[in-house]
Amino acid sequence: MAREYQVMVIGSGPGGYVAAVQAAQLGLRTVCIEKMPTLGGTCLNVGCIPSKALLQSSEYFELINKSVKEHGIEVQGASYNLTRMMQRKELVVKGLVDSVASLFKGNHIERILGEARFKDSHTVEVINGSDIKTIDADFIIIATGSEPINLPFLPFDDKTIVSSTGALSLEEVPKRMLVVGAGAIGLELASVYNRLGTKITVIEMLDRVTPTMDLAVSKQLLQVLKKQGLEFYLGAKVTEAIKEKEGITLAVDYEGKQMKFQGDVVLVAVGRRPYTQGLNLEAAGVTISPKGLIPIDGNFRTSQSHIFAIGDVVDGPMLAHRASHEGIAVAEIIAGKHSHVNYMAIPNVVYTHPEVSAVGLTDNEARAAGLKVIVGTAFFRGNARARCSGDIEGFVKVIGEAASGRLLGMHMIGAHSSEMIAEGVIAIEKKATLQDIATAPHAHPTLSETIMEAAQNALKDRSQT
Ligand SMILES: Cc1cc2nc3c(=O)[nH]c(=O)nc-3n(C[C@H](O)[C@H](O)[C@H](O)COP(=O)(O)OP(=O)(O)OC[C@H]3O[C@@H](n4cnc5c(N)ncnc54)[C@H](O)[C@@H]3O)c2cc1C
Repeated sequence: MAREYQVMVIGSGPGGYVAAVQAAQLGLRTVCIEKMPTLGGTCLNVGCIPSKALLQSSEYFELINKSVKEHGIEVQGASYNLTRMMQRKELVVKGLVDSVASLFKGNHIERILGEARFKDSHTVEVINGSDIKTIDADFIIIATGSEPINLPFLPFDDKTIVSSTGALSLEEVPKRMLVVGAGAIGLELASVYNRLGTKITVIEMLDRVTPTMDLAVSKQLLQVLKKQGLEFYLGAKVTEAIKEKEGITLAVDYEGKQMKFQGDVVLVAVGRRPYTQGLNLEAAGVTISPKGLIPIDGNFRTSQSHIFAIGDVVDGPMLAHRASHEGIAVAEIIAGKHSHVNYMAIPNVVYTHPEVSAVGLTDNEARAAGLKVIVGTAFFRGNARARCSGDIEGFVKVIGEAASGRLLGMHMIGAHSSEMIAEGVIAIEKKATLQDIATAPHAHPTLSETIMEAAQNALKDRSQT
Protein backbone atom coordinates (compact mmCIF):
# COMPACT_ATOMS: atom_id res chain seq x y z
CA MET A 1 0.00 0.00 0.00
CA ALA A 2 1.31 3.45 -0.92
CA ARG A 3 2.36 5.56 2.01
CA GLU A 4 0.49 8.78 2.76
CA TYR A 5 3.43 11.06 1.84
CA GLN A 6 6.54 10.71 -0.24
CA VAL A 7 8.51 13.10 1.95
CA MET A 8 8.03 13.91 5.63
CA VAL A 9 10.09 16.75 7.10
CA ILE A 10 10.38 17.03 10.88
CA GLY A 11 11.11 20.64 11.89
CA SER A 12 10.43 23.84 9.98
CA GLY A 13 13.64 25.81 10.55
CA PRO A 14 15.74 27.05 7.63
CA GLY A 15 16.78 23.43 7.03
CA GLY A 16 13.32 21.86 7.24
CA TYR A 17 11.18 24.47 5.52
CA VAL A 18 13.59 24.89 2.62
CA ALA A 19 13.79 21.09 2.19
CA ALA A 20 9.97 20.88 2.22
CA VAL A 21 9.57 23.63 -0.39
CA GLN A 22 12.24 22.12 -2.63
CA ALA A 23 10.75 18.62 -2.33
CA ALA A 24 7.27 19.94 -3.18
CA GLN A 25 8.62 21.90 -6.14
CA LEU A 26 10.25 18.71 -7.39
CA GLY A 27 6.78 17.17 -7.46
CA LEU A 28 6.96 15.14 -4.23
CA ARG A 29 3.93 14.86 -1.91
CA THR A 30 5.34 16.58 1.17
CA VAL A 31 4.34 17.10 4.80
CA CYS A 32 6.17 19.18 7.42
CA ILE A 33 5.68 18.63 11.14
CA GLU A 34 6.48 21.48 13.51
CA LYS A 35 5.84 21.51 17.24
CA MET A 36 5.85 25.29 17.58
CA PRO A 37 2.81 27.34 16.53
CA THR A 38 4.85 29.31 14.00
CA LEU A 39 7.08 28.08 11.19
CA GLY A 40 10.71 29.12 10.66
CA GLY A 41 12.45 27.39 13.57
CA THR A 42 15.13 28.94 15.74
CA CYS A 43 16.42 31.23 13.00
CA LEU A 44 13.22 33.12 12.31
CA ASN A 45 11.63 32.99 15.75
CA VAL A 46 14.42 33.21 18.34
CA GLY A 47 17.69 33.41 16.42
CA CYS A 48 19.06 35.18 13.35
CA ILE A 49 16.09 37.44 12.69
CA PRO A 50 15.09 38.86 16.10
CA SER A 51 18.77 39.32 17.00
CA LYS A 52 19.46 41.24 13.79
CA ALA A 53 16.34 43.36 14.26
CA LEU A 54 17.53 44.39 17.74
CA LEU A 55 21.10 44.88 16.53
CA GLN A 56 19.83 47.26 13.84
CA SER A 57 17.60 49.24 16.23
CA SER A 58 20.34 49.55 18.85
CA GLU A 59 22.87 50.50 16.17
CA TYR A 60 20.63 53.38 15.02
CA PHE A 61 20.43 54.56 18.62
CA GLU A 62 24.20 54.36 19.01
CA LEU A 63 24.67 56.17 15.71
CA ILE A 64 22.39 59.04 16.71
CA ASN A 65 23.78 59.18 20.21
CA LYS A 66 27.48 59.03 19.39
CA SER A 67 28.64 58.60 15.81
CA VAL A 68 26.73 61.30 13.90
CA LYS A 69 28.39 64.07 15.95
CA GLU A 70 31.59 63.77 13.91
CA HIS A 71 29.46 64.40 10.78
CA GLY A 72 28.37 67.73 12.21
CA ILE A 73 24.92 66.53 13.20
CA GLU A 74 23.71 67.54 16.65
CA VAL A 75 20.90 65.51 18.18
CA GLN A 76 19.81 66.37 21.67
CA GLY A 77 18.04 64.07 24.08
CA ALA A 78 17.81 60.92 21.94
CA SER A 79 16.13 58.15 23.86
CA TYR A 80 14.70 54.75 23.12
CA ASN A 81 11.51 52.92 23.91
CA LEU A 82 12.36 49.28 24.59
CA THR A 83 8.75 48.13 24.32
CA ARG A 84 8.45 49.66 20.84
CA MET A 85 11.83 48.20 19.85
CA MET A 86 10.68 44.74 20.95
CA GLN A 87 7.32 45.18 19.20
CA ARG A 88 9.10 46.08 15.95
CA LYS A 89 11.29 42.99 16.33
CA GLU A 90 8.15 40.86 16.77
CA LEU A 91 6.63 42.42 13.64
CA VAL A 92 9.74 41.64 11.60
CA VAL A 93 9.60 38.04 12.85
CA LYS A 94 5.86 37.78 12.15
CA GLY A 95 6.26 39.05 8.59
CA LEU A 96 8.88 36.42 7.86
CA VAL A 97 7.18 33.45 9.56
CA ASP A 98 3.95 34.35 7.78
CA SER A 99 5.76 34.31 4.47
CA VAL A 100 6.99 30.77 5.20
CA ALA A 101 3.35 29.79 5.85
CA SER A 102 2.40 31.34 2.46
CA LEU A 103 5.24 29.43 0.78
CA PHE A 104 3.84 26.21 2.25
CA LYS A 105 0.33 27.03 0.99
CA GLY A 106 1.57 28.07 -2.44
CA ASN A 107 3.50 24.83 -2.81
CA HIS A 108 0.71 22.61 -1.38
CA ILE A 109 2.82 21.43 1.53
CA GLU A 110 0.78 19.94 4.33
CA ARG A 111 1.68 21.44 7.69
CA ILE A 112 0.97 19.53 10.88
CA LEU A 113 1.27 21.16 14.29
CA GLY A 114 2.67 18.86 16.97
CA GLU A 115 5.69 16.96 18.23
CA ALA A 116 6.89 14.14 15.99
CA ARG A 117 7.81 10.81 17.59
CA PHE A 118 8.94 7.80 15.57
CA LYS A 119 6.78 4.68 15.81
CA ASP A 120 8.84 2.75 13.31
CA SER A 121 11.23 3.67 10.52
CA HIS A 122 8.49 4.94 8.16
CA THR A 123 5.85 6.00 10.68
CA VAL A 124 5.61 8.94 13.03
CA GLU A 125 3.08 9.91 15.66
CA VAL A 126 2.38 13.63 15.89
CA ILE A 127 1.37 14.62 19.39
CA ASN A 128 -0.52 17.85 19.96
CA GLY A 129 -1.95 17.81 23.47
CA SER A 130 -4.35 14.87 23.61
CA ASP A 131 -4.57 14.73 19.81
CA ILE A 132 -2.35 12.05 18.24
CA LYS A 133 -2.08 11.60 14.46
CA THR A 134 -0.17 8.78 12.83
CA ILE A 135 1.41 9.44 9.44
CA ASP A 136 3.88 7.64 7.23
CA ALA A 137 6.21 8.51 4.38
CA ASP A 138 8.69 6.90 1.99
CA PHE A 139 11.46 9.33 2.97
CA ILE A 140 11.91 11.26 6.20
CA ILE A 141 14.11 14.31 6.77
CA ILE A 142 15.04 15.08 10.39
CA ALA A 143 15.65 18.83 10.76
CA THR A 144 14.97 19.29 14.45
CA GLY A 145 17.77 21.82 15.04
CA SER A 146 19.45 22.64 18.33
CA GLU A 147 18.87 24.13 21.78
CA PRO A 148 21.00 26.35 24.05
CA ILE A 149 23.40 24.54 26.38
CA ASN A 150 22.96 25.44 30.03
CA LEU A 151 25.55 25.18 32.79
CA PRO A 152 24.52 22.89 35.67
CA PHE A 153 24.88 25.64 38.28
CA LEU A 154 23.23 28.25 36.03
CA PRO A 155 19.84 26.81 35.06
CA PHE A 156 17.81 29.18 32.86
CA ASP A 157 14.96 30.90 34.68
CA ASP A 158 14.13 33.32 31.82
CA LYS A 159 14.51 36.28 34.20
CA THR A 160 17.91 36.50 35.86
CA ILE A 161 19.64 33.63 34.07
CA VAL A 162 18.73 33.71 30.43
CA SER A 163 19.65 31.96 27.20
CA SER A 164 19.71 33.87 23.92
CA THR A 165 15.94 33.34 23.73
CA GLY A 166 15.39 35.14 27.04
CA ALA A 167 17.87 37.89 26.15
CA LEU A 168 15.88 38.65 22.99
CA SER A 169 12.80 39.50 25.03
CA LEU A 170 13.94 41.28 28.20
CA GLU A 171 11.28 43.59 29.56
CA GLU A 172 13.77 46.17 30.71
CA VAL A 173 17.34 47.03 29.92
CA PRO A 174 19.45 45.68 32.80
CA LYS A 175 22.01 47.93 34.46
CA ARG A 176 24.62 45.15 34.53
CA MET A 177 24.76 42.05 32.37
CA LEU A 178 27.22 39.19 32.73
CA VAL A 179 27.71 37.35 29.48
CA VAL A 180 29.18 33.88 29.77
CA GLY A 181 30.67 32.96 26.39
CA ALA A 182 32.31 35.15 23.74
CA GLY A 183 31.05 33.44 20.59
CA ALA A 184 28.84 35.06 17.95
CA ILE A 185 25.59 34.88 19.93
CA GLY A 186 27.07 36.20 23.19
CA LEU A 187 28.86 39.10 21.49
CA GLU A 188 25.90 40.10 19.32
CA LEU A 189 23.49 40.25 22.25
CA ALA A 190 26.13 41.91 24.43
CA SER A 191 26.45 44.58 21.71
CA VAL A 192 22.69 45.21 21.69
CA TYR A 193 22.52 45.88 25.44
CA ASN A 194 25.84 47.72 25.58
CA ARG A 195 24.46 50.20 23.04
CA LEU A 196 21.33 50.61 25.17
CA GLY A 197 23.43 51.48 28.22
CA THR A 198 23.99 48.18 30.04
CA LYS A 199 27.37 47.60 31.68
CA ILE A 200 28.58 44.41 30.01
CA THR A 201 31.12 41.97 31.44
CA VAL A 202 32.04 39.05 29.19
CA ILE A 203 33.50 35.95 30.82
CA GLU A 204 35.04 33.42 28.43
CA MET A 205 36.85 30.19 29.22
CA LEU A 206 39.08 30.27 26.11
CA ASP A 207 41.84 32.82 25.71
CA ARG A 208 40.15 34.56 22.76
CA VAL A 209 36.80 35.72 21.42
CA THR A 210 35.09 34.15 18.34
CA PRO A 211 37.37 31.08 18.44
CA THR A 212 36.46 29.79 14.96
CA MET A 213 37.50 33.03 13.26
CA ASP A 214 40.96 34.08 12.01
CA LEU A 215 43.16 34.91 15.02
CA ALA A 216 44.12 38.43 13.83
CA VAL A 217 40.44 39.20 13.20
CA SER A 218 39.46 37.96 16.67
CA LYS A 219 42.20 40.07 18.25
CA GLN A 220 41.02 43.21 16.50
CA LEU A 221 37.39 42.50 17.39
CA LEU A 222 38.37 42.22 21.05
CA GLN A 223 40.14 45.57 20.89
CA VAL A 224 37.22 47.30 19.20
CA LEU A 225 34.64 45.89 21.60
CA LYS A 226 36.76 46.95 24.56
CA LYS A 227 36.84 50.46 23.10
CA GLN A 228 33.04 50.32 22.94
CA GLY A 229 33.01 49.74 26.70
CA LEU A 230 32.60 45.97 27.02
CA GLU A 231 34.79 44.42 29.71
CA PHE A 232 36.39 41.03 28.99
CA TYR A 233 37.80 38.28 31.19
CA LEU A 234 39.33 35.66 28.90
CA GLY A 235 40.69 32.34 30.12
CA ALA A 236 38.18 32.70 32.96
CA LYS A 237 35.99 29.93 34.34
CA VAL A 238 32.68 30.44 36.12
CA THR A 239 32.64 28.09 39.10
CA GLU A 240 29.59 29.11 41.07
CA ALA A 241 26.48 31.23 40.89
CA ILE A 242 24.88 32.83 43.93
CA LYS A 243 21.40 34.24 43.47
CA GLU A 244 21.01 37.49 45.41
CA LYS A 245 17.84 39.35 46.39
CA GLU A 246 18.56 41.58 43.41
CA GLY A 247 20.48 39.90 40.61
CA ILE A 248 23.20 37.33 40.82
CA THR A 249 26.87 36.93 41.73
CA LEU A 250 29.21 34.71 39.72
CA ALA A 251 32.39 33.28 41.22
CA VAL A 252 35.07 33.10 38.55
CA ASP A 253 38.57 31.56 38.40
CA TYR A 254 40.70 34.14 36.60
CA GLU A 255 44.49 34.15 36.35
CA GLY A 256 44.80 31.99 39.46
CA LYS A 257 42.50 34.25 41.51
CA GLN A 258 38.91 33.79 42.63
CA MET A 259 36.92 36.81 41.49
CA LYS A 260 33.29 37.78 42.02
CA PHE A 261 31.11 39.53 39.43
CA GLN A 262 27.67 40.93 40.07
CA GLY A 263 24.98 41.31 37.45
CA ASP A 264 21.25 41.91 37.18
CA VAL A 265 21.05 39.42 34.34
CA VAL A 266 23.36 36.59 33.28
CA LEU A 267 23.28 35.60 29.63
CA VAL A 268 24.60 32.06 29.22
CA ALA A 269 25.85 31.77 25.64
CA VAL A 270 28.21 28.80 25.83
CA GLY A 271 26.96 27.07 22.69
CA ARG A 272 24.09 24.97 21.42
CA ARG A 273 23.53 21.24 21.28
CA PRO A 274 21.62 19.12 18.75
CA TYR A 275 17.96 18.63 19.61
CA THR A 276 16.54 15.13 19.27
CA GLN A 277 14.58 14.95 22.50
CA GLY A 278 11.30 13.07 22.24
CA LEU A 279 11.95 11.85 18.67
CA ASN A 280 12.28 8.22 19.80
CA LEU A 281 15.01 7.60 17.23
CA GLU A 282 15.55 4.04 18.55
CA ALA A 283 12.15 3.01 17.18
CA ALA A 284 13.31 4.12 13.73
CA GLY A 285 16.72 2.45 14.07
CA VAL A 286 18.51 5.80 13.68
CA THR A 287 21.77 5.89 15.61
CA ILE A 288 23.07 8.90 17.48
CA SER A 289 26.63 9.93 18.42
CA PRO A 290 27.78 10.30 22.06
CA LYS A 291 27.53 14.09 21.55
CA GLY A 292 23.87 13.72 20.57
CA LEU A 293 24.47 14.45 16.86
CA ILE A 294 22.87 12.32 14.18
CA PRO A 295 25.68 10.76 12.09
CA ILE A 296 25.12 10.99 8.31
CA ASP A 297 26.97 9.97 5.15
CA GLY A 298 27.94 12.27 2.27
CA ASN A 299 24.32 12.21 1.05
CA PHE A 300 22.77 13.15 4.41
CA ARG A 301 21.59 9.57 5.00
CA THR A 302 21.40 8.39 8.61
CA SER A 303 21.92 4.77 9.64
CA GLN A 304 18.56 4.16 7.87
CA SER A 305 19.04 4.90 4.17
CA HIS A 306 15.55 6.43 3.69
CA ILE A 307 15.90 8.72 6.74
CA PHE A 308 18.01 11.84 6.25
CA ALA A 309 19.22 14.53 8.67
CA ILE A 310 20.32 18.12 8.04
CA GLY A 311 21.10 21.39 9.80
CA ASP A 312 22.05 21.91 13.44
CA VAL A 313 21.16 18.34 14.37
CA VAL A 314 24.15 17.05 12.36
CA ASP A 315 27.84 17.86 12.70
CA GLY A 316 29.10 21.16 11.26
CA PRO A 317 28.78 24.91 11.79
CA MET A 318 25.39 25.82 13.24
CA LEU A 319 24.33 28.31 10.58
CA ALA A 320 20.97 28.96 8.95
CA HIS A 321 22.24 29.18 5.37
CA ARG A 322 24.17 25.93 5.76
CA ALA A 323 20.95 24.22 6.93
CA SER A 324 19.06 25.68 3.94
CA HIS A 325 21.65 24.54 1.41
CA GLU A 326 21.53 21.08 2.93
CA GLY A 327 17.73 21.27 2.70
CA ILE A 328 17.87 21.90 -1.04
CA ALA A 329 20.51 19.22 -1.59
CA VAL A 330 18.65 16.55 0.40
CA ALA A 331 15.37 17.17 -1.48
CA GLU A 332 17.22 16.87 -4.79
CA ILE A 333 18.88 13.62 -3.68
CA ILE A 334 15.49 12.19 -2.64
CA ALA A 335 14.12 13.19 -6.07
CA GLY A 336 16.89 11.13 -7.66
CA LYS A 337 19.20 14.00 -8.66
CA HIS A 338 22.86 14.53 -7.83
CA SER A 339 23.48 17.31 -5.37
CA HIS A 340 26.05 18.44 -2.87
CA VAL A 341 26.95 21.35 -0.58
CA ASN A 342 30.32 23.07 -0.97
CA TYR A 343 31.21 23.51 2.70
CA MET A 344 34.34 25.50 1.82
CA ALA A 345 32.04 28.20 0.46
CA ILE A 346 29.79 28.56 3.52
CA PRO A 347 30.34 32.03 4.98
CA ASN A 348 30.27 32.81 8.69
CA VAL A 349 29.34 36.23 10.07
CA VAL A 350 29.30 37.85 13.51
CA TYR A 351 27.02 40.90 13.42
CA THR A 352 28.88 43.08 15.89
CA HIS A 353 29.97 46.54 14.81
CA PRO A 354 32.22 46.26 12.92
CA GLU A 355 31.03 42.96 11.50
CA VAL A 356 33.29 39.93 11.29
CA SER A 357 32.94 37.79 8.17
CA ALA A 358 34.79 34.78 6.88
CA VAL A 359 34.73 32.11 4.22
CA GLY A 360 37.10 29.22 3.52
CA LEU A 361 40.28 28.41 5.40
CA THR A 362 42.32 30.57 7.75
CA ASP A 363 46.06 30.67 6.95
CA ASN A 364 46.73 28.42 9.95
CA GLU A 365 44.16 25.88 8.78
CA ALA A 366 45.59 25.94 5.25
CA ARG A 367 49.15 25.44 6.54
CA ALA A 368 47.98 22.65 8.86
CA ALA A 369 46.47 20.97 5.80
CA GLY A 370 49.96 21.00 4.23
CA LEU A 371 49.24 23.83 1.75
CA LYS A 372 51.75 26.54 0.84
CA VAL A 373 49.96 29.84 1.08
CA ILE A 374 50.31 33.51 0.23
CA VAL A 375 48.53 36.04 2.39
CA GLY A 376 47.53 39.63 1.65
CA THR A 377 46.01 42.21 3.98
CA ALA A 378 44.51 45.65 3.35
CA PHE A 379 43.07 48.05 5.92
CA PHE A 380 39.80 50.00 5.73
CA ARG A 381 41.49 53.09 7.15
CA GLY A 382 43.10 53.53 3.69
CA ASN A 383 39.77 53.14 1.89
CA ALA A 384 38.05 56.26 0.54
CA ARG A 385 34.50 55.08 1.20
CA ALA A 386 35.38 54.08 4.78
CA ARG A 387 36.86 57.57 5.29
CA CYS A 388 33.62 59.16 4.02
CA SER A 389 31.42 57.10 6.32
CA GLY A 390 33.81 57.28 9.27
CA ASP A 391 33.87 53.50 9.69
CA ILE A 392 37.62 53.01 9.27
CA GLU A 393 38.18 50.14 11.65
CA GLY A 394 39.21 46.73 10.36
CA PHE A 395 40.85 44.95 7.49
CA VAL A 396 40.51 42.29 4.83
CA LYS A 397 42.84 39.29 4.74
CA VAL A 398 42.95 36.94 1.78
CA ILE A 399 44.66 33.58 1.63
CA GLY A 400 45.64 31.99 -1.66
CA GLU A 401 47.38 28.80 -2.62
CA ALA A 402 50.98 29.80 -3.41
CA ALA A 403 51.44 27.88 -6.65
CA SER A 404 48.06 28.43 -8.34
CA GLY A 405 46.97 31.63 -6.61
CA ARG A 406 43.56 30.01 -6.00
CA LEU A 407 41.60 31.70 -3.22
CA LEU A 408 41.47 29.49 -0.13
CA GLY A 409 40.00 31.91 2.36
CA MET A 410 38.81 35.46 2.96
CA HIS A 411 38.52 37.02 6.43
CA MET A 412 37.32 40.50 7.26
CA ILE A 413 36.49 42.75 10.13
CA GLY A 414 34.78 45.91 9.01
CA ALA A 415 31.45 47.72 8.61
CA HIS A 416 29.15 45.92 6.14
CA SER A 417 31.57 43.00 5.76
CA SER A 418 28.55 40.64 5.95
CA GLU A 419 27.59 41.92 2.49
CA MET A 420 31.12 41.99 1.09
CA ILE A 421 31.93 38.39 2.03
CA ALA A 422 29.72 37.28 -0.89
CA GLU A 423 32.64 38.17 -3.17
CA GLY A 424 34.78 35.60 -1.37
CA VAL A 425 31.97 33.03 -1.50
CA ILE A 426 31.59 33.34 -5.28
CA ALA A 427 35.38 33.31 -5.73
CA ILE A 428 35.73 30.08 -3.73
CA GLU A 429 32.68 28.52 -5.39
CA LYS A 430 34.05 29.33 -8.86
CA LYS A 431 37.68 28.48 -7.96
CA ALA A 432 38.79 32.03 -8.73
CA THR A 433 42.36 33.16 -8.08
CA LEU A 434 43.82 36.15 -6.23
CA GLN A 435 44.73 37.43 -9.71
CA ASP A 436 41.02 37.34 -10.69
CA ILE A 437 40.10 39.38 -7.60
CA ALA A 438 43.05 41.75 -7.95
CA THR A 439 42.19 42.65 -11.56
CA ALA A 440 38.36 42.63 -11.45
CA PRO A 441 37.15 46.25 -11.55
CA HIS A 442 35.55 47.26 -8.22
CA ALA A 443 33.43 50.45 -8.16
CA HIS A 444 35.07 53.49 -6.60
CA PRO A 445 34.62 54.51 -3.88
CA THR A 446 33.41 51.28 -2.27
CA LEU A 447 34.50 49.27 0.74
CA SER A 448 35.00 46.24 -1.50
CA GLU A 449 38.01 47.93 -3.09
CA THR A 450 39.80 46.80 0.08
CA ILE A 451 39.26 43.17 -1.00
CA MET A 452 40.86 43.94 -4.36
CA GLU A 453 43.74 45.68 -2.59
CA ALA A 454 44.30 42.72 -0.23
CA ALA A 455 44.54 40.41 -3.25
CA GLN A 456 46.96 42.83 -4.94
CA ASN A 457 49.09 42.94 -1.78
CA ALA A 458 49.23 39.14 -1.62
CA LEU A 459 50.44 39.00 -5.23
CA LYS A 460 52.96 41.82 -4.65
CA ASP A 461 54.40 39.93 -1.68
CA ARG A 462 54.64 36.78 -3.80
CA SER A 463 56.51 38.60 -6.58
CA GLN A 464 59.00 39.92 -3.99
CA THR A 465 59.80 36.46 -2.58
C1 LIG B 1 20.38 34.16 18.93
C2 LIG B 1 20.78 33.41 17.69
C3 LIG B 1 21.24 34.10 16.61
C4 LIG B 1 21.60 33.43 15.44
N1 LIG B 1 22.04 34.15 14.38
C5 LIG B 1 22.38 33.53 13.24
C6 LIG B 1 22.78 34.26 12.10
O1 LIG B 1 22.84 35.48 12.13
N2 LIG B 1 23.10 33.58 10.98
C7 LIG B 1 23.05 32.21 10.92
O2 LIG B 1 23.36 31.64 9.87
N3 LIG B 1 22.65 31.47 11.98
C8 LIG B 1 22.32 32.10 13.13
N4 LIG B 1 21.88 31.36 14.21
C9 LIG B 1 21.86 29.89 14.08
C10 LIG B 1 20.61 29.42 13.31
O3 LIG B 1 19.46 29.91 13.94
C11 LIG B 1 20.57 27.91 13.23
O4 LIG B 1 21.79 27.44 12.70
C12 LIG B 1 19.43 27.44 12.34
O5 LIG B 1 18.19 27.89 12.82
C13 LIG B 1 19.42 25.92 12.23
O6 LIG B 1 18.36 25.54 11.41
P1 LIG B 1 17.68 24.10 11.52
O7 LIG B 1 16.65 24.06 10.44
O8 LIG B 1 18.72 23.06 11.55
O9 LIG B 1 17.00 24.07 12.96
P2 LIG B 1 16.04 25.08 13.74
O10 LIG B 1 16.00 26.41 13.14
O11 LIG B 1 16.46 24.98 15.18
O12 LIG B 1 14.60 24.44 13.57
C14 LIG B 1 14.26 23.20 14.11
C15 LIG B 1 12.76 23.15 14.29
O13 LIG B 1 12.39 21.81 14.59
C16 LIG B 1 11.33 21.85 15.53
N5 LIG B 1 11.30 20.55 16.21
C17 LIG B 1 12.24 20.00 17.01
N6 LIG B 1 11.89 18.78 17.40
C18 LIG B 1 10.67 18.53 16.85
C19 LIG B 1 9.78 17.44 16.88
N7 LIG B 1 10.07 16.29 17.55
N8 LIG B 1 8.62 17.54 16.21
C20 LIG B 1 8.29 18.67 15.51
N9 LIG B 1 9.11 19.73 15.45
C21 LIG B 1 10.29 19.66 16.10
C22 LIG B 1 11.69 23.02 16.43
O14 LIG B 1 10.54 23.51 17.12
C23 LIG B 1 12.25 24.02 15.43
O15 LIG B 1 11.25 24.88 14.96
C24 LIG B 1 21.50 32.01 15.37
C25 LIG B 1 21.01 31.30 16.48
C26 LIG B 1 20.66 31.98 17.62
C27 LIG B 1 20.12 31.19 18.78
